[in-house]
Amino acid sequence: MELVDMLDRAAETLKEARSVLFITGAGMSADSGLPTYRGTGGLYQDRTTDAGVPVEVALSGGMFQRNPAVTWSVLLELANAARGKRPHRGHEILAAFENDPVYGFDRIWILTQNVDGFHQRAGSRQVIDIHGDLSQLQCARECGWEEHVTDYHHIDPDRLPPRCPVCNSPIRPNVVLFGELLPEAKLRRLQTELRAGFDLVVSIGTTSVFPYIAQPMIINARLGKPTLEINPDFTEVSSIADLRLPLGAARALVELERRLA
Ligand SMILES: [Zn+2]
Repeated sequence: MELVDMLDRAAETLKEARSVLFITGAGMSADSGLPTYRGTGGLYQDRTTDAGVPVEVALSGGMFQRNPAVTWSVLLELANAARGKRPHRGHEILAAFENDPVYGFDRIWILTQNVDGFHQRAGSRQVIDIHGDLSQLQCARECGWEEHVTDYHHIDPDRLPPRCPVCNSPIRPNVVLFGELLPEAKLRRLQTELRAGFDLVVSIGTTSVFPYIAQPMIINARLGKPTLEINPDFTEVSSIADLRLPLGAARALVELERRLA
């Protein structure tokens, strides 16, 4: 099938759906110029952190317990790479699908693995950011202190970890570090929405290596309901997707929106 035919068919499927779940991963943020930290072109491809440990170890809950300065040095590097970046047209289109009745959707949800908060910044409200959000800082001892920040410019890289102004414990972003459990409330929300069901599930820019990211695609496939994948590369869910658009996130969403408008 030619690309233009695939786009037409994907747009038809989208038009027929009233409820849609969009699942987004690193490929979505990559179109905003955010580096991924693994994989081709990633910050940590074939490289250990300055502390001499692999990035997954530095960004683990265990390392944060033992030596939060190591975790923070990587968090700062990720945050600095993201500074000045903003949501792209694809983020805006997903927000418009949710908020603008002209598209005719009843129910739009986003399940994202990205921790940049871009979906919310673009105006999406029904977002399950299952891995958290770097812009929400909180006391690691959970004394109750928390702060919403736009970036980490106020954090001194020579005095890590940054500390809670109330109780002097290390602070941390409200993100799920490697080896930590997913947040209960967000998991419950996801299961509630999956039980309600979606006419269409669209997987965008994620390799879907985590079971909870692949699950919604699998559920729809089992029920004989449509699934769509947007990804230049083949992934864990490619074989069950009804239709694959081998495109980047922003370009695919712009092309689809144009056919819906
Ligand atoms: Zn505190």
